[in-house]
Amino acid sequence: MNFETIIGLEVHAQLLTKSKMFCRCSADYADAPPNTHVCPVCLGMPGVLPTINQQAIEYTIMTALALNCAIAEYTRFDRKNYPYPDLMKGYQISQYAAPIGHHGWLNIEVNGQKRKVGITRVHLEEDVAKLVHRSSPGEESYSLVDVNRSGVPLMEIVGEPDLHSPEEARQYLIKLRSILQYLGVSTGNMEEGSFRCDANISIRPEDSPDSMAKVEVKNMNSFKAVYGALEYEVKRQRRAAGEGRRLVQETRGWVEEKGKTVSQRSKEYAHDYRYFPEPDLPPLVISQDWVEEIRAKLSELPESRRDRFVAEYNLPLYDANLLTSSKAMADYFEDFRRANVGIPAKDISNWLLGPASGIMNANNCDVTEFSKRVSPERFGRLLVLHSGAAVNISTAKSMLEEMFNTGKDPDTILKEGERGQISDTQEIESAVGQVITANPKAVADYKAGKTQSLTFLVGQVMRVTTGRANPQLANELLRKRLEGG
Ligand code: ZN
Ligand code: MN
Repeated sequence: MNFETIIGLEVHAQLLTKSKMFCRCSADYADAPPNTHVCPVCLGMPGVLPTINQQAIEYTIMTALALNCAIAEYTRFDRKNYPYPDLMKGYQISQYAAPIGHHGWLNIEVNGQKRKVGITRVHLEEDVAKLVHRSSPGEESYSLVDVNRSGVPLMEIVGEPDLHSPEEARQYLIKLRSILQYLGVSTGNMEEGSFRCDANISIRPEDSPDSMAKVEVKNMNSFKAVYGALEYEVKRQRRAAGEGRRLVQETRGWVEEKGKTVSQRSKEYAHDYRYFPEPDLPPLVISQDWVEEIRAKLSELPESRRDRFVAEYNLPLYDANLLTSSKAMADYFEDFRRANVGIPAKDISNWLLGPASGIMNANNCDVTEFSKRVSPERFGRLLVLHSGAAVNISTAKSMLEEMFNTGKDPDTILKEGERGQISDTQEIESAVGQVITANPKAVADYKAGKTQSLTFLVGQVMRVTTGRANPQLANELLRKRLEGG
């Protein structure tokens, strides 16, 4: 039997506002000691009243506009009721009937093919407190509550079930996160929990109009985890359906260490939450003027920046795509350009996407961290030294690594380490002499007509000079010596 995979993603993103959603407490709680960013409102004390954070509304409108949504003129908050130890009031102030943004879409590209994915809604709610579970052998385990996170503005973006493979889901998340980062409304950091994803996944037999039971997967805190969990579910559901077993609507959790999902509970329905309009907040009217004001301020988004990189810098689409998929990388590229007028854009792109990205991957560090160690100015200086033939390509690459590791500038590294390219004929000739004496067989091979042994001998000259010899000169001098004598 053939099945189609149907995936819809729900993303929760913490907004980068200074204060929390409904009180004046600082929302910057990451490094704060537990329970220090709290007040009666976010602690959920009785008798207090929430007030709406205008910046959070503005960020949500920005995001909804960037996702091509319609903006509601009249919107309101609703109470979502459920009991859980991390939910201080016993309800979450959220939006149900009238979300701020609705009916939008974003573009993804999979295997070179562009696809439009629908956005159902973008709404605003509040984050919950954090439970810390403690257990030590021989003692009763217990849980601690840290209320700092309670009330931090949380934007929920619900996508249409338009995705048909784990790879499409991954591309959707990458694109969505990149848009939030471009807008500056969220860090989009999944590992830190400021960008969280739940996935709805089901399969549909090819000959049926209806899909089988929908499964919600939670507890995925990296792009890799989302991809792994969805791949696992696709296989599990197809196998079950193929064997004629019944699939049930349920919530499953991804267990990273085991590489599988496990059943957590049967899925709840909207009516289980007993939503009703939040009586402590007035309905919110969003004027058309305000929306237009925000639209006019919208920063450049990934796709338009990519197109501009192609047009303005004459870069191949492939390079422009990679450079602009992260805002930080695109910013670094443009800072590099500004700081080093005269270095061709394609050279900068090659260095950033090649050696620099290699160093970042090997050290598990992002562009922001990289730029703290290697500023665009210093990186530019390295390229100037290289193009002026002071250092050859392999030396330039190892110098970049040293700049990253030590934070030194390229001129200092050159001075200290005698890294300069050797273009002094005498010095190279002495290396050529050494190599010829040490490799009689290769020399004989060359003289017998095996021209490829010249490549080997040039390599030996490079080795003797620790990679610093000018390769063309080494080649020339070697050949002269071999053919002359
Ligand atoms: Zn508070
Ligand atoms: Mn939610």
